[in-house]
Amino acid sequence: MSYISSIKRKTLSLYSLFATDMAMDLGTANTLIYVRGKGIVLNEPSVVAVDASTRKPLHVGMEAKKMYGKTPKELITIRPMKDGVIADFDASMVMISTFIKNARAHSFIIKPKIIIGVPSGITQVEKKAVIESALAAGVRKVHLVEEPMAAAIGTRMPVNESRANLIVDIGGGTTEVAIISMMATAYSESTRVAGDELDEEIVKYLRKNHNLEIGIFEAEKVKIKVGSAIKLENELSTEVNGRDTVTRMPTRMIVNDTMIREAIAEPVGAIVNAIQRSMEGVTPEMAADICSRGIVLAGGGALIRGLGKNLENKLGFAVYRARDPLASVVRGVGRVLEEFDTFRRVIIN
Ligand code: ADP
Ligand code: MG
Repeated sequence: MSYISSIKRKTLSLYSLFATDMAMDLGTANTLIYVRGKGIVLNEPSVVAVDASTRKPLHVGMEAKKMYGKTPKELITIRPMKDGVIADFDASMVMISTFIKNARAHSFIIKPKIIIGVPSGITQVEKKAVIESALAAGVRKVHLVEEPMAAAIGTRMPVNESRANLIVDIGGGTTEVAIISMMATAYSESTRVAGDELDEEIVKYLRKNHNLEIGIFEAEKVKIKVGSAIKLENELSTEVNGRDTVTRMPTRMIVNDTMIREAIAEPVGAIVNAIQRSMEGVTPEMAADICSRGIVLAGGGALIRGLGKNLENKLGFAVYRARDPLASVVRGVGRVLEEFDTFRRVIIN
């Protein structure tokens, strides 16, 4: 080792002692932050509570989500990234910089760099807003990576090989389907059918068929407890609390997996269609590659019971679920951070 490179190495390790280089999954439902050498240090809902009249952001993350549906009139809770785009710039900027500051706690010595996973449909203006928010939180350098690419890297798909990898990231606001080969995206599509849409369909179904009105978070709980995309061997059921749409009085009801499966059948079908479209959007060779090797599901929506089986039945090829689908993207951006030289090609800015 030359003298220069040994000095360089020493400075580098000193640097890494003080700087908390980070990687962030800026999701529509959840934001996660990975810190170099430490792992995932933050996992909070992407929610901001703002003053209804001034729009001034007052609470961020878990604290803000807990207020949903229970806030006084002067406070409203918003999800600034809801549909995969920045719906509220001020709120998103406060959210991003608050999360970064929280993850950086106690280490203000050197300005860190950060790698942020962003929805693949993000515009130039939105990219700028994300970068500025991070800079405002005391970050030195910001690199952006598209979320499906990060998810594929996070699930350790062989993205650098010359074969086609199909990843489906089913988040809260959007489902992103991407076909990746040699660290480049050959096809990508973002649809607004994802976890939120399933919750909305459950609300609609219970209102229409059972005169029961429930809140969106209650619907999400039901989805997680008994939601499924294929017929289950053992029936699942749970009690939901809501209001009778006729008498307007509070009431409860037992719902089972069959009802919820019926409620979410349409959006599940839309996810199948998005995957089929992506297969039509690439060369026959790539499509054949995917057929023979199968695809991977990531994102919280991948946790719906039997979703993989349902997709396999309809698509006719193997469907695998990422090991920890809620963390695929953050693990992916974390890997880009740790193995920067290998993955620098996936940076989009
Ligand atoms: P995003 O990347 O958009 O922030 P996530 O990947 O964090 O989204 O996934 C959030 C979505 O996953 C939500 O719609 C949530 O309801 C759903 N989800 C989380 N856990 C489960 C589960 N066990 N079963 C079904 N859906 C789930
Ligand atoms: Mg996501």
